[in-house]
Amino acid sequence: MMNVIIDKDAGFCFGVRNSISVAEELVAKGENIKCLGQIVHNDKEVSRLRALGVEFVSFEEYKNLKNETVLLRAHGEIPETYEIAKQNNLKIIDTTCPIVSSLQKKVLCSWEELSERGGQIVIYGQKEHPEVKGLKAQAGGEAIIVNDINEIFKIDFTKDIHLFSQTTKNKKSFENIIRSIKIEADKNSVQLYSNSSICRQVVNREVSIINMAKTNDVVIFVAGKNSSNGKTLFEICKSVNEKSHYISSVDELETNWFKGIDNVVVTGSTSSPLWLLEDIKEEILRICI
Ligand code: SF4
Repeated sequence: MMNVIIDKDAGFCFGVRNSISVAEELVAKGENIKCLGQIVHNDKEVSRLRALGVEFVSFEEYKNLKNETVLLRAHGEIPETYEIAKQNNLKIIDTTCPIVSSLQKKVLCSWEELSERGGQIVIYGQKEHPEVKGLKAQAGGEAIIVNDINEIFKIDFTKDIHLFSQTTKNKKSFENIIRSIKIEADKNSVQLYSNSSICRQVVNREVSIINMAKTNDVVIFVAGKNSSNGKTLFEICKSVNEKSHYISSVDELETNWFKGIDNVVVTGSTSSPLWLLEDIKEEILRICI
């Protein structure tokens, strides 16, 4: 009989869990709340919250709101979001993750220091990710964003560099980027200060996922299609266990993945809800009987 387990360390990180529970509490009290952007990069969870009464608005829609209550998610916001809130009399429920807030402050401090002597802020991350947009805004919108090692040519190696990372990036890839930037910085005698800003929750999840992928025959990795953390963790999973499959919903499961298999683990990113992992486990057992 095939054994299917759920990774005991899977589920939301505390930042996302906090945003979601605040949203749930508010709608349970009958409050009419709007959330700016997707609260989590997982369509299934967003649909569940929408059904409970949480309304999601884009930044364009947000700009036109007046006298409303708006929840800010864990990823952090740009300063303009708070300015609009003041102008439009919006009540803000700010659930920015404290780790992201602290990182924003560090970027701002670095920017203030560097702008006096002509240095630059570099952020290792995805330029369209809300957290990265929030960090870039702290540097007057002038931070250089590099998403992989091939993009370090964007950096001006005649100026000092303060390097930060999006909290959900892969630690090893960040270390490789630091090494490559350092080589170029040394050649030009410019200073490189790197700030290890990858979240502990993500690093710990990497360790646990490697362990799960090594000790099970098949890994079912659950994450939203646009989850940055999901893509990073899945790459790790796949590098350890070839039989790793990335899915976002129950109907993407394929029965042939489980033929002749003894042990299966269902795991996911820091933005994958546990209830979805449970549903997937049940469906695997159903289709394999
Ligand atoms: S991954 Fe870490 S920094 Fe990002 S929201 Fe979750 S707890 Fe906060």
